[in-house]
Amino acid sequence: MPRCIAVDLGGTLLRVAEVNERAEIAWRASVPTANTGHPQHVLDQISELIDVHASHAVDGIAVAAPGPLDSRQGVVARIPTLKGWNDVPLRDALRTRFSLPVLVENDAIAAAVGQWRYGAGSGCDSLVYLTISTGIGGGIISDGRVVRGRRGFAGHFGHMLLDPRSSLRCACGHLGCFEAHASGSALDSQARLMSSQGSSKCQALWAQVVRDTQPAASHLALAARLGHEPSLRAWRKLGVRLAQGVVSIVHALDPERVILGGGVSQSYEWFEASLHEQLAQLLMPEFKSVTVIPAHELQDAGLLGVASLLMETIQS
Ligand SMILES: [Zn+2]
Repeated sequence: MPRCIAVDLGGTLLRVAEVNERAEIAWRASVPTANTGHPQHVLDQISELIDVHASHAVDGIAVAAPGPLDSRQGVVARIPTLKGWNDVPLRDALRTRFSLPVLVENDAIAAAVGQWRYGAGSGCDSLVYLTISTGIGGGIISDGRVVRGRRGFAGHFGHMLLDPRSSLRCACGHLGCFEAHASGSALDSQARLMSSQGSSKCQALWAQVVRDTQPAASHLALAARLGHEPSLRAWRKLGVRLAQGVVSIVHALDPERVILGGGVSQSYEWFEASLHEQLAQLLMPEFKSVTVIPAHELQDAGLLGVASLLMETIQS
């Protein structure tokens, strides 16, 4: 049975697994991604993990990596959290080193494919997957096909312009992007303002949650569970902002499902109501049947997604 090595090249963690065509994982391993400024050190890490764990030959290597990533040329344009990762021809480097077919894909697109084939998108022909963490990225499946765009950059939803009059600056440098309003970073900014919000009781509760750590989105989830009204308000606001972005996506792409993944989506219970209220208000009647749901907890969505894309090319 065909099998491949699937690699999730993360900004902090490098995960490697052996996956067969039935999406069964024979082994998996991970190490902190070498951030030495020399991409070949990450290739060395992949080699070492394969040497230690793989007991038989594989038919190819599939890599999911952060974007922007030119999946047509197999070139990683940039990984902001890793030094030296600018215009790295990852596909050719791996092909040369391993003499195997190699496929390189954006990690959000890989996760979208994973959810489509094995998770919350099963049985669905058109879907959008949104990963909401530090930023907002995503992947599009339309009419049963993965949408990549000219160079594989499709799905950079985080930089849709949500509010041109906004004072919130995005990581891309512009004001008012979707991710400046609705990502984990936006929540982190809210958390930093929380110590002075609400009644003195609220402020005392917040101090108790944060203690001597840097206020962050995770504290907003903890505080919400304790009934901290300013945190609950921050989550409601996030739901409204998310809906505003999702509405544009739905009107543009007409998906059957929008699947919300990424760390922020694990706090779905705190923004579910405001998200759906706002969606109900803003969607045109013809689009209201779209389903907006959290992703399935699928630790290996990206690995399985990218492996399945490679399997297709090997078998065709
Ligand atoms: Zn932006």
